[in-house]
Amino acid sequence: MNCQLCQKELDAYCQGNLPGNIRTQVENHLKGCESCASAFAQTQLLNRVINEEREIQSNPFLVTRIMEGIESSSVERPVHQPVFMKVLRPAIITTSLAAAVFAGVLLGGFANTSPDRMPAELAMMDDMAIESVSMLSNE
Ligand SMILES: [Zn+2]
Repeated sequence: MNCQLCQKELDAYCQGNLPGNIRTQVENHLKGCESCASAFAQTQLLNRVINEEREIQSNPFLVTRIMEGIESSSVERPVHQPVFMKVLRPAIITTSLAAAVFAGVLLGGFANTSPDRMPAELAMMDDMAIESVSMLSNE
């Protein structure tokens, strides 16, 4: 097994989807190859982040906690940050989009209700001002 083939199978290997003979070849290669072993560690990390992302969708408050974890861990392990950000950014964008839409619905609700209450008095005041001005000019 060469590096190219090994890294191609890493994802399936992480998820336990490889047939036994290929899995053994991957395991043997990982023992002897440092670059593939590090790619394997990255793939494992990626799979863990994807699993965490599934939890985020049901619990938005996890985003804050995970972001804090990323900020603290990125200081110690800066190499892992791009992997985290690549996977988590869509989740964060989705969450903030949902928050923006929710805020927009709230604001839109206020904007729709307030003109309904005010115009009666405001319109009358405007009419009175216009009428009194026109009455004055007629005299
Ligand atoms: Zn290799």
